[in-house]
Amino acid sequence: MKRLVVAGYGMVAQRFLEAFAERAAEGWSVTVLAEEDRPAYDRVRLSAWFDDYDAGALHLGGAPDGVAVRLNEAVTGIDRDRKVVHSASGETPYDALVLATGSRAFVPPIAGSDLPGVFVYRTLDDLAALKDWATAGGRRIGAVLGGGLLGLEAANALKLLGITTHVVEFAPRLMPLQVDEGGGAVLKRHIEALGVTVHTGRGCAGLEGDADGVRRMLFNDGGSLDVDVVVVAAGIRPRDELAEPSGLVRGPRGGFTVDAACATADPAVWAIGECAALSLDETGGVCYGLVAPGYAMAEVVADRLTGGEATMARPDTSTKLKLLGVDVASFGAPFAEGLDVVVTDQVTGVYAKLLLTDDAKTLLGGILVGDASAYPTLRASLGGPLPAPPLALLAPAGDGSVKAELPGTAQVCSCHAVTKDHVTDAIAGGCTDVPGLKACTKAGTGCGSCIPLLKQLLAAGGVAQSKALCEHFTYSRQELFDIIRVRGIRSFSELVAAHGTGRGCDICKPAIASILAVTNSGYILDGEEAALQDTNDHFLANIQRDGTYSVVPRIPGGEITPEKLIVIGEVARDFGLYTKITGGQRIDLFGARVEQLPQIWHRLVDAGFESGHAYGKALRTVKSCVGETWCRYGVQDSVGLAIELELRYRGLRAPHKLKSAVSGCARECAEARSKDFGIIATEKGWNLYVAGNGGFRPRHADLFLTDVTTEELIRTIDRFLMYYIRTADRLQRTAAWLEAMEGGLDHLRAVIVDDALGLCAELDAQMARHVGSYADEWQATLQDPQRLARFVSFVNAPGTPDPDISFEVERGQKVPARGPVPVTLGGAR
Ligand SMILES: Cc1cc2nc3c(=O)[nH]c(=O)nc-3n(C[C@H](O)[C@H](O)[C@H](O)COP(=O)(O)OP(=O)(O)OC[C@H]3O[C@@H](n4cnc5c(N)ncnc54)[C@H](O)[C@@H]3O)c2cc1C
Ligand code: SF4
Repeated sequence: MKRLVVAGYGMVAQRFLEAFAERAAEGWSVTVLAEEDRPAYDRVRLSAWFDDYDAGALHLGGAPDGVAVRLNEAVTGIDRDRKVVHSASGETPYDALVLATGSRAFVPPIAGSDLPGVFVYRTLDDLAALKDWATAGGRRIGAVLGGGLLGLEAANALKLLGITTHVVEFAPRLMPLQVDEGGGAVLKRHIEALGVTVHTGRGCAGLEGDADGVRRMLFNDGGSLDVDVVVVAAGIRPRDELAEPSGLVRGPRGGFTVDAACATADPAVWAIGECAALSLDETGGVCYGLVAPGYAMAEVVADRLTGGEATMARPDTSTKLKLLGVDVASFGAPFAEGLDVVVTDQVTGVYAKLLLTDDAKTLLGGILVGDASAYPTLRASLGGPLPAPPLALLAPAGDGSVKAELPGTAQVCSCHAVTKDHVTDAIAGGCTDVPGLKACTKAGTGCGSCIPLLKQLLAAGGVAQSKALCEHFTYSRQELFDIIRVRGIRSFSELVAAHGTGRGCDICKPAIASILAVTNSGYILDGEEAALQDTNDHFLANIQRDGTYSVVPRIPGGEITPEKLIVIGEVARDFGLYTKITGGQRIDLFGARVEQLPQIWHRLVDAGFESGHAYGKALRTVKSCVGETWCRYGVQDSVGLAIELELRYRGLRAPHKLKSAVSGCARECAEARSKDFGIIATEKGWNLYVAGNGGFRPRHADLFLTDVTTEELIRTIDRFLMYYIRTADRLQRTAAWLEAMEGGLDHLRAVIVDDALGLCAELDAQMARHVGSYADEWQATLQDPQRLARFVSFVNAPGTPDPDISFEVERGQKVPARGPVPVTLGGAR
């Protein structure tokens, strides 16, 4: 058995292990020695840790079966003569050694860089230390040293931690390696508009402070800035400290020099990722600080070790980023000599530059700031002709409708080197949607920027994606919404007679009931509408696994008086209900039989409660922290706003259930960014986040508006909700709705903030109608004997409780009796 040792367990090592395992590399034992105390995680998405502080969410899936991983065990030396590596536990022999030790953050030699409160931004531990310091209390002002990619990510992190943030960049513009002067100026304006102060053309001459922490940043022009926290993001240096002692050659700017096969001069030692200086010409080797070149190196070495002859091509250094919500893309060689086409729109803050050869036939590179929607097409056109005239691609918002004209050899997905031919072959072979293409070509499974292109190629391949709601309607939910609204249709039978066929099914009935509830705003169990609802809506309660129901009174914003708490306790005790406090700040009462529901609600309605709509595809809760009323950090009244919003949107029927939250400051105790719409208080007003949650595929909400007034906030949420309700598909959550939206967040902003489609007045009116016509469904039910008649276990024996329902006691409360476990004889496939 040959022995393979991998030094370092970062992103590239992970990719290498997977690629090696995929090639069924038998006859090897594989050992990984990792300096960090956790397996490889997604460093590219490192900043996402500030969304939820959940390191597990960045985990990359672990090593393949059979690989021995030794965490917390750095390689300290290599003895190439004896073919062993040294580490704390002794010697590990190898037949092949793959170095994947990555980079370290570079800290320039400035006085005071070792003071407490000065951090780098590279590992999860770095971020945790930064967070602990910045939130320790009393820290208000932070500076980031470096205005590149990493610096702007770090600035975002400081902002999220509630710190007033400055970015200091020595070069005359932000992101000097990726964007030119024009792009840098537009980018600066975007970043400043977010409340970050940008100091370009200014260097840091030193830091002052004492044992309690950093206090002041001194500039090279004589000025200074009082600071409580500093993040140094001034570049990276390859981790090549093992090179010299073991006699391995280093590149001119560091890194283990490797050839096109990623081999060092020692045929048993390879280097991949950020620690490798790839030498394809006489320059002596270049280190690449991006993950895609590292992945390509991982594939090459996996191939070589399993008998292949793969080699590295010159890596593509294109990047597309979303920094503090601003699109920035840079691709090819945007600073080369050639003809350029530049578009600057000062009004919308968009900058675009394309660089072409002197005969204007070949695209050499480009820069996009403010709107990067044309990036997938342009990146795939690199080195070839543009598929349309430059201006048609860049303005307005380059909708990319020309993508199908790309040559077959154009690389559609650069993360996995998938060409347009690969994709069209897969479509011809039967792939009918993006998930299918992802599975059979790997395209779209990396950074995801090529997904719009994949959709276009599907459309160009003639793959029609049916929009029909179900077999009874050939229209999408959105089209049905418009038909019902424009034609003034008030019932299902009217709709099916004019625009559908048959009698409806479990798919179209609840979907249309939900549209009718929004457009007609009537009592949802009246007349024909009652038969359309699914079981939960049918009984205005949530059916549980044992056939009983749970009752959830609304507690807006989670605020409740002792008297009301007592009533809930008494109801729970008198009806013997299991009681649980939910994550959405309500009290769930379980185990009610259907005939008990009206009696329970009688007591609750008399005490001033109303239905919490836990059963409906409707607004559930607006969670809140205690905000400025009680909390030392709170800057706004989060409870007051949460109550106002919950009361405003109660009962609003939607394609899917909706959740919201309001946090009183950036510390985010209400977890607002994991909601369909979330609000975080700022010193100046409110920040609005939209389309979080995501269900099966958790997603954080995107920042949509900053520092708005309460009035502006509510108006925008009104329109967001109504536009979602009008245009989303059946059972489509806000997250999936936004992901599927052409133009994404920018399009949404254009429609509901800038009124680009002239819809806002109508959306406002629809919401006003909902708010004005809201009536509590339980109160309405209790007042009407006919409506109450439905709440029986058996229509022909109204007084008889369902004998199949039984309970047992667990932790002092009743729970459904579990009984014998059912045996499944044949499952659905
Ligand atoms: C905040 C941030 C954002 C980024 N954003 C992007 C982006 O948008 N796009 C992009 O392409 N790239 C981005 N990058 C860069 C990307 O993360 C790196 O290119 C990639 O992680 C490199 O992978 P690697 O395996 O070579 O190195 P790493 O992921 O750094 O892994 C190297 C590992 O080796 C360990 N190690 C070092 N020495 C030893 C030793 N002697 N023994 C054992 N273990 C050792 C290290 O502790 C580390 O765990 C970003 C990086 C950061 C920090
Ligand atoms: S409770 Fe609210 S106001 Fe207080 S720290 Fe948490 S988010 Fe900020």
